[in-house]
Amino acid sequence: MTEKKSYNNLGEVPFAQRVLLLPHCLRPSQDCPGKMTKQGLDCSDCSHTECAIYQLRAVALEKGYGGICVAPGGRLAVRFLAERQPVGVVAIACDKELEEGLETIEQMTWETRKPAVAMVALVQDGCVDTKVDVSLACKVIAATNGHKSKGDR
Ligand code: SF4
Repeated sequence: MTEKKSYNNLGEVPFAQRVLLLPHCLRPSQDCPGKMTKQGLDCSDCSHTECAIYQLRAVALEKGYGGICVAPGGRLAVRFLAERQPVGVVAIACDKELEEGLETIEQMTWETRKPAVAMVALVQDGCVDTKVDVSLACKVIAATNGHKSKGDR
């Protein structure tokens, strides 16, 4: 099991107040049409259904997540968190990035409170064509303690 949680209460956070952080190394390097922008990789018009990023974005969008960032590195992810001030964060990355990210979250100044964080480590890292357990990550993204998603309303 590669799931790591630093807090146990992500399931209590409404989906609209959560954000999803994905590493751009999960993209299929040979045929990804995404363009890198200042906000991260733009996957908005993509229909590459076999891509893990596509699949995880689709779950977060369906649930009504407040934001999704496909980041090329920790710096952009931190900026995204600072701007969005989410109540819940699902972060997917390699062990090293997760460790550093968690430290940064602990040290950041939050407008209201420190967000609940759930982390899923990559099962194959290496910076290019990495892999994640998509079904585990989907479960974490959809984790709930009873509140409803956008699609359930
Ligand atoms: S969904 Fe996947 S293939 Fe499509 S642009 Fe994003 S990373 Fe690339």
